[in-house]
Amino acid sequence: MPIFHECDRCTACCRWPGQVKLTDAETARLATFLGLGEDDFIQRFTRVNAARNGLALVDQPGGACVFLDGGDCRVNPVKPQQCRDFPNLWSFPGFEQVCRAKPVTVTADEWRRRVKQATGRDVEALPKG
Ligand code: SF4
Ligand code: SF4
Repeated sequence: MPIFHECDRCTACCRWPGQVKLTDAETARLATFLGLGEDDFIQRFTRVNAARNGLALVDQPGGACVFLDGGDCRVNPVKPQQCRDFPNLWSFPGFEQVCRAKPVTVTADEWRRRVKQATGRDVEALPKG
């Protein structure tokens, strides 16, 4: 039976080092959401990603994502897919030590339904394990 991780919105994943990569569509959506032109948005909130093949969000001085505001994401309705997909569609070894998402064993259909709700994605392949 697959395990779905229920996010408890602790925002740890918005604070740890790394990068939030942006697609062109996400960049456009974020700019519109903030009422900015795309060029202005890119100047203020993005940098070239580590692979130098696209954009990523900049960090606040302490390392948190530029859009983390207290315990909230300022762009939650249009947050990047990378943010929506964690931790059910991508994670890293030992993520449970820093992410407070609650693991719940569910049926395959329920897992797909919950993943769709959390990420917007239709996913056929079930997680291993
Ligand atoms: S965009 Fe929002 S959800 Fe994604 S890392 Fe930044 S604050 Fe967190
Ligand atoms: S995915 Fe995990 S680390 Fe991120 S907000 Fe949810 S519980 Fe916290």
